[in-house]
Amino acid sequence: MNKLVGALITFVGICLVLLGAIFIVAWSVENLVTGAVMVLIGAALMYYVYRVERIEAAKPKLISQTYNVTLSGSGAMLPKDMVCKSCGAPIADKDITAVQGGLMAKCPYCGVVFALQEAPKW
Ligand SMILES: [Zn+2]
Repeated sequence: MNKLVGALITFVGICLVLLGAIFIVAWSVENLVTGAVMVLIGAALMYYVYRVERIEAAKPKLISQTYNVTLSGSGAMLPKDMVCKSCGAPIADKDITAVQGGLMAKCPYCGVVFALQEAPKW
């Protein structure tokens, strides 16, 4: 229902209820019946608007949103030197061997053997 139409019907309903109340206050049999009918019609109109608003409010609404997302690459790619954990000497490719699925490095200088593990990204 249009907002304006709903407000108009509500306004007419309020006017009918107020006018009906005046008729009831005037107090004669015809006035009482007329006033009661007016109050009932006004109340029915307001209840109708209320119900329609409730039904429309309960319906799911489709909300359209636009997001502008800029994707950029990761940071600069820098080579990471592998060094011995013990003495800090550089480890070359020939010093790394695969043992049972794991990578083992043997320092050519101090002879320490250690496992290479991937550091967590965070
Ligand atoms: Zn070493």
